[in-house]
Amino acid sequence: MAVSSYENSAEASSMVRLVMDLRKNIEGKHVLLVEDIVDTGRTMQFLSELLRARKPRSVKTCALVRKPDRAAVDAEVDYLGFEIPDVWVVGYGLDFGEGDRTLPYIAAMKADP
Ligand code: 5GP
Repeated sequence: MAVSSYENSAEASSMVRLVMDLRKNIEGKHVLLVEDIVDTGRTMQFLSELLRARKPRSVKTCALVRKPDRAAVDAEVDYLGFEIPDVWVVGYGLDFGEGDRTLPYIAAMKADP
C-alpha cells in the first residue's frame, strides 16, 4: 500500500490519503501492518482502520521507530523497534527530500544553526 499525508487547511490538521491499495482481498486473513516510523500516528491509525473494515481475522501493527512526543492520535503499535525524541531521522530507508535514504544506519538530522 502507499499513502501520502497532506495538510487540511479547513481543519488545520494533517490528513492521510490512500495512493495505492492492496491487490488482494484480506477478509479472514491475519494481517501485519509494517510501518517505517510512527510520528503523529495518523498514517498508522488511518491504515489500521481501513484494513479492519475489510474483516481480516486479525490486524497487528509493527514499526521500527516511534516518536512518542509527537503522538497526535492513539495509534497502537504491537511490535516496536525503539522510541526516539522529536527529531527528524534518516537512513535505513528513511529519507530527507529523497536524500540519505540509503545510509546503512539511522541518524538524526541536525537543526539549522
Ligand atoms: P505520521 O502519520 O505518523 O505522522 O507519519 C508517518 C510518516 O511520516 C512515516 O511513514 C514517514 O514517511 C514520515 N516521517 C515521520 N517522521 C519521520 C522522520 O523522522 N524521518 C523520515 N524520514 N520520515 C518521517
